[in-house]
Amino acid sequence: MEFSAWYKDHFESRLTGRYIHTKHIAPLLDIYGHEFSISVIGSSEKGKNIHCIKMGTGKKVVLAWSQMHGNESTTTKAIFDFCKFIAQKSSFQAEIGEFLDSFTFYCIPILNPDGAEQYSRENANNIDLNRDARELSQAESKILRKIFEESRPDLCLNLHDQRTIYSLPDKMPATVSFLAPAANKALDITTSRETAMKEIVALYSVLSELIPGQIGRYDDSFNDNCMGDSFQMEGVPTLLFEAGHSRGDYRREKSREYIFYALLTLFGFITVEKSKNAVDAYYLIPENEERFRDVIIRNVQLGDTDKVTSLAIRYEEVLENDRIRLVPILDEIGDLNGFFGHKEADAEGVKILLNSHEILSIGEKVSIIVSKYAINRVFFRDSLTFI
Ligand SMILES: [Zn+2]
Repeated sequence: MEFSAWYKDHFESRLTGRYIHTKHIAPLLDIYGHEFSISVIGSSEKGKNIHCIKMGTGKKVVLAWSQMHGNESTTTKAIFDFCKFIAQKSSFQAEIGEFLDSFTFYCIPILNPDGAEQYSRENANNIDLNRDARELSQAESKILRKIFEESRPDLCLNLHDQRTIYSLPDKMPATVSFLAPAANKALDITTSRETAMKEIVALYSVLSELIPGQIGRYDDSFNDNCMGDSFQMEGVPTLLFEAGHSRGDYRREKSREYIFYALLTLFGFITVEKSKNAVDAYYLIPENEERFRDVIIRNVQLGDTDKVTSLAIRYEEVLENDRIRLVPILDEIGDLNGFFGHKEADAEGVKILLNSHEILSIGEKVSIIVSKYAINRVFFRDSLTFI
């Protein structure tokens, strides 16, 4: 794909890793202030500016927001990849001109700057902004609602990250998932929802060329307190994007690239034949399952019993000195058949020590797991990974 050649050399390398907040995007907003119309559309509960980037003057209005959940920054990186692509003057100029003439794109790169800085899903008041569509109790929710009403979008993009547990058939990770949120409890296919499904089917077909088997459909339920569901309910086609994991990519530098291609597809840079029966095609996209664990240690023997079982370790993302550390936590003890580890080890039935003790407790930080009678045999060690 010609766009992948551009991407390889030109993606926004000033934004990398998972910890992205206002401080990181401020220099880019300064640069792009000359290229796009960038405004402060309000401030967060703690008084931080919330920015909106507007590009293009076309009839079709698209509104996107990223980092509504503060610790979900992958799509923010993709937005700045997209900004860089649109602002450059050396390639795809005809296509970019057409985009700017056809679309007006409003984009909020960080809707929840307080959550982004403290690296939390929730905002400064510990409120999940995606459960605040009815009450609009938080400054950030009110700002999103206001720009939704003022911009009168034809399409909304609700941009998120999903956890590493999500899987697809054949032990594939859900690297990108999409959802056309329901517009009512009956999950009816309303006109706006069908439009969203059509868009998703096109995205699925383009991304399947790049990461076959790694694109999923996010779980379907209706909650009118979720922003996407509430906009869909009001008849505005809304797509949920969930950037996810791919092999070894805890920094999510791969999935950001796929989100970039998804944006290119939505805005017509990458063309795809529209499916005749988008609803059927949409439901053929495999639904996310939750079969991955970060690490699985199989066949460990615990305590005095002869029972052999397995352990699952989950990486908790902890903000430490301006970086995000993956802290391994003992999360499950059980047979874990039918589950897969992004990393796996086999203890082959030996007794183990976790942090030098035999009694395990769920929720404990894991430094090291060794064989009880051969402590040089290490099944897991915290590698102090920062992402
Ligand atoms: Zn989210």
